[in-house]
Amino acid sequence: DAADDPPMPRHRVTTKGNNVPEHVESFQALQERYALSNRLLTNLEESGYKRPTGIQSYGIPILMESRDLAAISPTGTGKTLSYLLPVMASLGAPAASSKGDAGTGVRALILAPTRELAHQIHNECLKLAQGRKWRIVLFSKATASTLADKNVRDKVDLVISTPLRLVAALQAGHIELDNVRHIVLDEADRMLDSEFLSQVQEVVAACTYPNVQKAVFSATLPAGAEKIAMSMLQDPIRVVVGLKDT
Ligand code: ADP
Ligand code: MG
Repeated sequence: DAADDPPMPRHRVTTKGNNVPEHVESFQALQERYALSNRLLTNLEESGYKRPTGIQSYGIPILMESRDLAAISPTGTGKTLSYLLPVMASLGAPAASSKGDAGTGVRALILAPTRELAHQIHNECLKLAQGRKWRIVLFSKATASTLADKNVRDKVDLVISTPLRLVAALQAGHIELDNVRHIVLDEADRMLDSEFLSQVQEVVAACTYPNVQKAVFSATLPAGAEKIAMSMLQDPIRVVVGLKDT
């Protein structure tokens, strides 16, 4: 029972934006409010997650209600699940399934600055997706070349990548992003600085589906990166967890 476990550290949370959805205190409450599948809840339990962290209890409802989000929360506070759970909850049937009603091709995209981080996100994603038939692709040289086959890439549901790999695949015509409904930039302070910005912008521009949901997550967001983030987001909510609301 959750009551027997030591709580995750409590953090101070501040929010800014229009009509901020109410936060949740438990995964059960999330399930009741948004009709999450039992499977998703079971997979959370099996990951050993008993209750949402601060960024999860505020960030997940915001994303579940299709809002854009800038989330700033210290390292180790569970930012990954904050975006993976809403993405999983809204992914629908696998693109490969005959009754897939969501259209073909990639419907969610997670960008991270390093292969190592993309790899960690992929692992967490696979745990959460246990028992589902989604094709979750960690972009690498090898996977990128298999996607040259349109029949293969039309069956992919979710892509996790570094910006450079994805831009290369876009330019080669090996990936279409026109059905992407959710874009997440993890470690957004790095994604929006000069090293990656133009690549990120190229990827975002290729996501032509109307009203794509965008979210940025970071431990810190310097003023310059924050300004760029806010210009990319629509009617965003900003959530800050921790010590200082800069
Ligand atoms: P961040 O991206 O904010 O640095 P991570 O998403 O990498 O944090 O999560 C840090 C660690 O906390 C991971 O080992 C993850 O499995 C764990 N974790 C995430 N959410 C929870 C939760 N609700 N309860 C317990 N552990 C969690
Ligand atoms: Mg992280």
